[in-house]
Amino acid sequence: ITAEDLAKETVKNIKETDKKINAWITVDEDAKPAENLDFNKNKLAGIPIAIKDNIITNGMKTTAASHILYNYMPVYDATVISKLKKAQATFVGKTNMDEFAMGSSTEHSYYGETHNPWNLDKVPGGSSGGSAAAVASGEVVAALGSDTGGSIRQPAAFNGIFGIKPTYGRVSRWGLIAFGSSLDQIGVMSKRVKDSAEVLNVIAGPDEHDATVSEQEVPDYTSFLGQDVKGLRVAVPKEYMDAVDGEMREVIQKQIDVLKDAGAIINEVSLPHTKYVVPTYYIVASSEASSNLQRYDGIRYGYRAKDTKNLLDVYVKSRSEGFGDEVKRRIMLGSFALSAGAYDEFFKKAAQVRTLICRDFEKIFEENDVIVGPTTTEPAFGIGEEISDPIKMYNNDILTISANLAGIPAASVPAGLVDGMPAGLQIMAKRFDEGNVFKVADFIERNN
Ligand code: GLN
Repeated sequence: ITAEDLAKETVKNIKETDKKINAWITVDEDAKPAENLDFNKNKLAGIPIAIKDNIITNGMKTTAASHILYNYMPVYDATVISKLKKAQATFVGKTNMDEFAMGSSTEHSYYGETHNPWNLDKVPGGSSGGSAAAVASGEVVAALGSDTGGSIRQPAAFNGIFGIKPTYGRVSRWGLIAFGSSLDQIGVMSKRVKDSAEVLNVIAGPDEHDATVSEQEVPDYTSFLGQDVKGLRVAVPKEYMDAVDGEMREVIQKQIDVLKDAGAIINEVSLPHTKYVVPTYYIVASSEASSNLQRYDGIRYGYRAKDTKNLLDVYVKSRSEGFGDEVKRRIMLGSFALSAGAYDEFFKKAAQVRTLICRDFEKIFEENDVIVGPTTTEPAFGIGEEISDPIKMYNNDILTISANLAGIPAASVPAGLVDGMPAGLQIMAKRFDEGNVFKVADFIERNN
């Protein structure tokens, strides 16, 4: 099969499969591979990759699943896109998500919800639910997602695929539509661990457009595959195990036993501030979001309300009509937490607790190489089941958001089935130690 045919076949298959799944917001009907493909040099040459719709693509509509950006046509590429273009990957379109990446179910999209390919009545997780479903349904081999509080790992777990959020500062955020700038990170999802390693090899590394990206050398992540785990020090937080019971606990424990039987040293540890991570995250993330989303004023981008009387009216009406309910909730929460009267009690407190959460991790990594545990407390829930209860939806994120607050790399790898739906094992490591995350994920994949 030629790369041209692969691009055509991929688009054809997406059109068919997506009638049920709705994983895509935009599909490029004329998708073509790059010219002069160099298969020896570029592992990704001619490989179709899905891009979450909050990553800017030159000449391809980018909406972040929001009405406020319904017609936004970028005039430049995000750095990750430029890097993938240089590596000659094929672009077939943009995937569905929760509006501005706020959510855990891909139900908060202006373009309708995405369905979980394992069971169409279940959510695919979120916010990168479109990317996860596109991979799980076999529409593409790999997809880019973004992860502010679990948006790559939780949908990866719900769809039985691998997903990695790299260290904060490993991958450029230039061209990623900002949500929580101190937490956001672009990462990769794929069925096979190796494919994510290949994509991360391409997108990681310095960028003159993003001062938060590290100059630290990017290792070849595939060099961590195929290794054993003998002597590896694996921490298991008791708060994470206490958060799961029944079949979920068994499935996770089984994977820990697999590591133990292979000679890894298992240490029970504690992340004592786990009970504060949800409120801490929702204050920090919403505060940053309320600031980042100020730019959508009906003037510079996308949607502008009609029949307005004056400038203020343009702002108010465009934002009222352009943003969905969940986004408005975050803007209100964030604006409140940053306001003069509430700052000390809310934003400042959250920033302080964040430091304590970081210290919990530092302490564990003094004596351990990786941390493992469940990615989520439950497998995928039903569409419509939690949408009307935001607090319940927020509490689901308890196991994923700490890694964002601490800036450490974290992944989810398939661990087995719970009630017939996939469950994920989460693997975390020290900052810039994606290598050990890949090592353990690949080991689990090979021994499943
Ligand atoms: N579910 C979390 C939220 O709603 C995380 C989202 C994300 O990682 N983008 O904020």
